[in-house]
Amino acid sequence: MLRRALAALARFLHTFSGMRRGILALPLLLAACGQPVDGDNHGWGWQHDAQAADGLRVRYADDSTPRVDDIDAVYQAVAACMSVPLPHGPLLIFAPGILATTDVAGIGFLDTGTFVIDSSCIDLAAPGGQFTLRHELVHYLLDQIGFPRDRNQAHDSPYFSACVVP
Ligand SMILES: [Zn+2]
Repeated sequence: MLRRALAALARFLHTFSGMRRGILALPLLLAACGQPVDGDNHGWGWQHDAQAADGLRVRYADDSTPRVDDIDAVYQAVAACMSVPLPHGPLLIFAPGILATTDVAGIGFLDTGTFVIDSSCIDLAAPGGQFTLRHELVHYLLDQIGFPRDRNQAHDSPYFSACVVP
């Protein structure tokens, strides 16, 4: 939507004045409004279907994806397990085919607080069905408390075992 609006505006500026400077100024304008320069969030975008009071946002894969309140309860449980204060929540994107195309069930972008999780790897009621979600939430919460990213990415924290299985 935004991209289409910007394209229309760019076309308008180009048609109206022929000045390319007007087009080049647009990204700076966005950056000044607090948007990251990488505005597409590593190609995943920022849209979400539901948001919890603590800021956790969920993009559902389909109707079978657990709803935001149940996912938020897991988020709060993992934070409590780690004894960290609950920070503003991450963006969790549930999508099909992640495991098949990347060979991992979850992908994390610590710089934008975004996690993409294979939608077939979440079943809150099944044994082990919270594993991937909790694993990614440990990554997020460690980063939020300033844990070194190299150690985070190396899973060098006892919370990965202590707080991943409910
Ligand atoms: Zn990991």
